Amino acid sequence: MAKSIPHISEEYYCTHCNDYKDFLDVNTNWKCPICGNYVQIRIVIGNTIDQSCFRIPVSELSSNDIVLLHRNTDFNEILGIRNSGDKVFLNIKGYGSVKMNKDDTILKLNGGWYH
Ligand SMILES: [Zn+2]
Repeated sequence: MAKSIPHISEEYYCTHCNDYKDFLDVNTNWKCPICGNYVQIRIVIGNTIDQSCFRIPVSELSSNDIVLLHRNTDFNEILGIRNSGDKVFLNIKGYGSVKMNKDDTILKLNGGWYH
């Protein structure tokens, strides 16, 4: 399973600083270099309204979080999480069990993009 790869259509916005951020300022940990909060990431897929996501390590996921694995599919709910060493097994609705590294990143749905 591929981890989350940045897409050319993405934009980055910090709601705490009320400011857009450059890719090169956020691409190490997807946090704002000024305030340290995760930046909202604009996700454009298909004909749906643009969504806001955070790109977080899978180790920070919780059950019931909504994630995007592939841009040609839809958002899916995390049904369960099982840790095993440096791996994480995510039970994702519509996918079943997905094995990832703990420090792999994944797009977690935040809500609509309103910036
Ligand atoms: Zn900020």
